[in-house]
Amino acid sequence: MYKFHYLRTCKFAITNYLSYSMKTTNKLIAASLLIAVCSQMAWAEKNVVKSPDGKLVVTTEDTDGKLFYTVDYNGKKMIIKSRLGLESSLGDFSQNLKYETVATDKISKHYVMRSTKASAVDYEANQMNVTYVNEKKIPMTVTFNVSNNDVAFRYSFRQQGDNRHIIIYKEATAFQLPEQTTTFLSPQSDPMIGWKRTKPSYEEEYTPNAPLTAKSKYGRGYTFPCLFRIGNDGWALISETGTRSSYPGCRIADYDKEKGYEIAFPMKEECDGIGSNNAVFALPGSTPWRTITVGETLKPIVETTIPYDVVDPLYEPSEQYKSGRYTWSWLIWQDNSANYNDQKQFVDLSAAMGYEYVLVDGLWDDQTGRERIAELSRYAQSKGVHLMLWYNSNGTENDAPQGPHNCMDKSIERKKEMAWMKSIGVKGIKVDFFGGDKQHTMQLYEDILSDANDYGIQCIFHGCTLPRGWERMFPNYVSSEAVLASENVFFTEHHAKKEGFELTMHPFCRNAVASMDWGGTIMNRYMSRDNKSRHRRYTSDVFEMAAAIVNQASINCIAIYPNNLNELPQHEIDFLKGVPTTWDETRFIDGYPGKYVVMARRHGADWYVVGLNATEKPMNLNLNLNMLSGKSVSYYYETPDKKSLWPVSHVKNTNIGKNGKVKVVMQPNGGFILK
Ligand code: CA
Repeated sequence: MYKFHYLRTCKFAITNYLSYSMKTTNKLIAASLLIAVCSQMAWAEKNVVKSPDGKLVVTTEDTDGKLFYTVDYNGKKMIIKSRLGLESSLGDFSQNLKYETVATDKISKHYVMRSTKASAVDYEANQMNVTYVNEKKIPMTVTFNVSNNDVAFRYSFRQQGDNRHIIIYKEATAFQLPEQTTTFLSPQSDPMIGWKRTKPSYEEEYTPNAPLTAKSKYGRGYTFPCLFRIGNDGWALISETGTRSSYPGCRIADYDKEKGYEIAFPMKEECDGIGSNNAVFALPGSTPWRTITVGETLKPIVETTIPYDVVDPLYEPSEQYKSGRYTWSWLIWQDNSANYNDQKQFVDLSAAMGYEYVLVDGLWDDQTGRERIAELSRYAQSKGVHLMLWYNSNGTENDAPQGPHNCMDKSIERKKEMAWMKSIGVKGIKVDFFGGDKQHTMQLYEDILSDANDYGIQCIFHGCTLPRGWERMFPNYVSSEAVLASENVFFTEHHAKKEGFELTMHPFCRNAVASMDWGGTIMNRYMSRDNKSRHRRYTSDVFEMAAAIVNQASINCIAIYPNNLNELPQHEIDFLKGVPTTWDETRFIDGYPGKYVVMARRHGADWYVVGLNATEKPMNLNLNLNMLSGKSVSYYYETPDKKSLWPVSHVKNTNIGKNGKVKVVMQPNGGFILK
């Protein structure tokens, strides 16, 4: 950490000037001019904090009472002069600020994760706490944690006099990027649109490589995470973490030439206009962390653990939660399949595959009923399988007709329902259709998670916000949709064609910051129960199998169907039976957002190196895979078939040389696997 004391330097200059030059009136006038100049810059205070390797540098500086920061990596500008501060019930902290103190610290933290991309993390960061006071003399501290490729920052406030809470009306926090930047962003939707007015739900299309000045689709800015390519200088991924019941979920507003991208609060119209879109929390307290992951390549972005590094578990797990795979009838068999007989087939399918779970989707309360769900749960457990049940989040959150309704929005009803689930051996819930990002909706997520832990229930959310550090904060949290997921591949041919694009986009943004319930590796070739009608799947079998490794969620969906057991070649079935869902290590190998990705994930002693090709051309890659050097591995690959729309998949044993060099080929919309 460096400090630049402009004030002190200035005083020294004046003293010197006055001692040696006070001889004539002219010189006195000159001296007073100098004092005037110096008083202009008297309060400019510059503070610097660097990462442990010295490459990542954050500088804060105030100008005319406003506070700014910049981020540089290896001498290159990543975030140019951008505002800090906010407007609150304790006064305006966006202007008329006066520098007070700076303090530094070293953060060194080792922690273990059960359910994300890496199981053991060493977080080393240098911390800088810069404190400014506003016009009312109330202090605000901005904390920057700077690790080798990640910046995390937040605002903290102390209790002072009668001030025991703070309401935040607006943040001045902004991200201004260098002009050569292009953007890879997903727009925020208008409020109260879409299926039964359930949006926003983070289910919008990404636009790759757009100019910085592009307007967002709805004029509502963009949802986190936000990926930026800083020309040839590198990449930046901006997001937030640590959001719980004490803050709304934020986004960035549309680009402004002067300010860049400003933090925006939820739209007033979300939740039918009910509930405030401001933030409020008790003092002492802090805002969530805003995170900026930077690198010269995409490697630090794919591998980042910053969403978990700066948060801590909020409670102990009530039991040892089990990760695993689930089958899911709804994706292709849809609403009518929530009946006992269909669900029994999926229990048998999960049992045949050695999978841990079956997700029974919406309408089971009508089509199966609670008594027969209990019977189904007993049957499943006799086969070593556990059920997860779908719930509507409402209450007042939405108008979606699927039940069960009114079980998840109030604590008394929720706990009664969860006690029943526990009594019949149900191990998980998927709660769908949440109402936007206001603080009271964040409270609902937290309350569901906290209650569910008391009953040994793990949670998946759909139709929902981006999870922000939740895998670490809530030990029974699994994953969220918050993505234009596989259901869209089923719904429309447009999205089926875009599946390759989507799944080569998310390792660099959505799935880089949080677990993602894509909703399944799809092995049906047509999006229908008979596997002949409706539109086709555009991706190859090996693409889908590799996607089960690329898509990270600790309970991952393998959306195979009973018919697939007879249709798929044995080597594909065998691979899918053995798919892990938790990872000790994740490494980026190669790729470009929306075009292709090659990544390596380690489960215990086993490395899985997988690739997805979203382009329309075969892709030959020369890879350097030191984690496989000297090993004998299975290589899953494909060759084109003139008689079919899909390439033929093969598996063969191959020995990797000591240098780890491997040549692989991926067919168009295809993939490869080395394991
Ligand atoms: Ca959805």
